[in-house]
Amino acid sequence: MEGFLESVRYYVARAAQQLDLGDRMEHRLLAPRREIRFECTLPLDNGERATYIGYRTQHDDARGPMKGGIRFNPAVTADEVGALASLMTWKTAAADLPYGGAKGGINCDPRGLSRAELQRLTRIFTDQLHDVIGPNRDIPAPDLGTDSQTMAWIVDQYARYHGWSPAVVTGKPLEIGGSPGRDAATGRGLVEVMKLVLADRQQELVGTRIAVQGFGNVGSWTARLAAVAGAKVVAVSDITGAVRNPDGLDIPQLFRHVEAAGGVADYPNGESFPGSEIIAEPCDVLVPAAIEGVLTDANASDVQATIVVEGANGPTTPAADEMLQQREITVVPDIFANGGGVTVSYFEWVQNVQRYSWTEKRVNDELRQRMADGYRRLVSEAKAAGSSDLRAAAFRLAVGSVAAATRLRS
Ligand code: GLU
Repeated sequence: MEGFLESVRYYVARAAQQLDLGDRMEHRLLAPRREIRFECTLPLDNGERATYIGYRTQHDDARGPMKGGIRFNPAVTADEVGALASLMTWKTAAADLPYGGAKGGINCDPRGLSRAELQRLTRIFTDQLHDVIGPNRDIPAPDLGTDSQTMAWIVDQYARYHGWSPAVVTGKPLEIGGSPGRDAATGRGLVEVMKLVLADRQQELVGTRIAVQGFGNVGSWTARLAAVAGAKVVAVSDITGAVRNPDGLDIPQLFRHVEAAGGVADYPNGESFPGSEIIAEPCDVLVPAAIEGVLTDANASDVQATIVVEGANGPTTPAADEMLQQREITVVPDIFANGGGVTVSYFEWVQNVQRYSWTEKRVNDELRQRMADGYRRLVSEAKAAGSSDLRAAAFRLAVGSVAAATRLRS
C-alpha cells in the first residue's frame, strides 16, 4: 500500500506542477522546515519506566506561525507526523487562516496510561519543545488521543518557562482561555460542508442518510449535529465495532451507551456489524472520521454514498481518490472539509491575543461564514479547471497561496 507521506507528497507535487511553480519551489514546499524527534522517559505509577518517542514536525511558516495538533497514539511515526504536518500547511492555507502547518505526537497508547502518567508525559513533551513553540512560532492543539486537559497541562508547563501565555495552544478548557464552540467545531464544519454540497444538488440535510466511521471528537460531534439538523445517521463505527439502523440511530441514546460501555459495539437499538464494512454501507454521505488510509483501491469500489466528506486527515489513498473521481462521487477533501477545527482554533487564538472573548453564537456564525466562503472558492477553482475534483482544486489553492507568500518573503 502507498505510504501516507508519499500520498500527501503526491497531491502537493501534482498541484505544484499544475500551477507551473518550477522544481525549486516544489522542492521547498515539500520539505519540512524542522523535524524534531526525542525520547520521552516516563516514570510509571508502579515505579517502572517506559520510553516513548516524541515528534514535532514544523512543515512551513510562510503564511504565519505554524499550527497543528498533537497525537498520542501507538501508530505515531516520523512519517505519519510529517504527512500530517504538511496537511496542516495546506489546510490553513485552504481556509485562508494566517498560519503555517505543523504536527506532533508521541507513540504511546493513552488508554493504557493513568491520568497522572498522562500529565507527566505531557509535561516531558512540553519541556522538550517549549523553546520552539509559542503564540508567534508554533501553536499545538488536540488531535487523536489528546484533549483539552492535555492542552491545560501544556499551558501550565509552558508558563513555567515563559510566563502566562494561553495562546501557545488552542483547544483549551474554557476556564483557561478556551473558546466556546471549539470542541464541536470540526464536526460542525463537516455538517456545514454537507449542507453546502447538498444545496448545490438542490437537496437538503433533512432525511439524508449519513454513515460515520469513528466516534471520537470528530465523528461523535458530526453524528450529533447532523442528527439535530434532521439527517438520518444510519451507521456509526469505532474501534469496538459498528452499529446500523436504516431508520436512523438514536444518537443521544447511543452517546449514553458509549459512555457506559466504552464504545458503540452492542448498542441495543441497532444491528451490530463489523466496523470494516462501514465503507460499503448504503447511505448518501460517508464520513470517514477515524484515521488515515481507510479508503483504498481495495474498497473504493464498494462505496455506496454519492458524497464523501473527509473528517479524518488523509483517509483516502490517491488510488482510491482516482476511483471515486471516476465514479463521479463528490469527495470533499480533508484539507477543506475538516478545517472547522483549526478555524475555531484560530478564533480561540485571536481571543487570547486580544484578551477579548466571543460568544458561542459569534464563533458558530463566523465558522459557518468561513466554511461557505471556502466552499465557494473551492468550487470556482474546480470549475475554472473544467473539473469536479475538489481535492485537486483545494491543493492548487493552498499550494498557490503558500508559494506566493514564500516568493514575497524571499
Ligand atoms: N488536530 C486538528 C486538525 O488536524 C486541529 C488542529 C488545530 O486546531 O490546530 O486539524
